[in-house]
Amino acid sequence: MDAKPAAICAACNRAINEGQSVTYDLLFDRYFCDNACWSDWYADNEAEHRRKWTEEVDL
Ligand SMILES: [Zn+2]
Repeated sequence: MDAKPAAICAACNRAINEGQSVTYDLLFDRYFCDNACWSDWYADNEAEHRRKWTEEVDL
């Protein structure tokens, strides 16, 4: 009986469990462990979007 993660980090694919604080990208509807993961992902996708639109949320 595995607990289903509430979200998956779009950068490192780590499971993010309920209750954790994460960085959420509102525009792309993606979750990240933290700002560092978001920055990694953003660096790979910089050509597609040049903006930062995230917020810290508690799952
Ligand atoms: Zn991550």
